Amino acid sequence: MIGWLKRTRLLHWLPDAVVLAAMPRGARSLYLTFDDGPDPHYTPALLDLLRQHQVRATFFLIGAKVEGHPQLVQRMLAEGHRLGNHSYSHPNFNSLSLAGKMTEIDRTDRLLEGFDGIRHHGVRPPSGAFSVALTLHLARQRRRLMYWSYDSLDYQHRPPEELVQRMRVEPPRAGDIVLMHDDSDCCTRMLEILLPEWRAAGLRFDALPT
Ligand SMILES: [Zn+2]
Repeated sequence: MIGWLKRTRLLHWLPDAVVLAAMPRGARSLYLTFDDGPDPHYTPALLDLLRQHQVRATFFLIGAKVEGHPQLVQRMLAEGHRLGNHSYSHPNFNSLSLAGKMTEIDRTDRLLEGFDGIRHHGVRPPSGAFSVALTLHLARQRRRLMYWSYDSLDYQHRPPEELVQRMRVEPPRAGDIVLMHDDSDCCTRMLEILLPEWRAAGLRFDALPT
């Protein structure tokens, strides 16, 4: 069993075609990513905010929620965002066989293809729990894992202002892939404060490549 730290270090050693864990040196944008949606209570306000600031981002969607809220997926695409694959039912990948993981991933890819016409989407496993076997299996099919390089900690149920303060101390930089979640209002409340600051600091924003 490889330790967590070693595994995340491993991610940065693998070629970008296999695992995208940060954008290549020289990237000029910040890449916001939102996991665990689409959520009918929280995603619309986030989309409003992103539109207001002309920010394009990437949404790693849960297949079962896509089936429940297709209009939100259509809205994401209409507003210039891109889709990623965050499994069908958000199970613990550590307790699934490789075949079980691929069933989850393939089912969601088929759903997403119905919206954006793209056959294979970047895969972000639930809780970032990847294995070497899964990574290699995806790579053989020319599909890739998409990780993050900056964790907003917005899932920790701490006050948004406290998390914002932490991000000001060590801000993400151009090329960073920022992990956030749109199944609560925390990220929207953080971004209401941070987006104007980041813009003023000269940062641009873009969706991840497919
Ligand atoms: Zn998740």
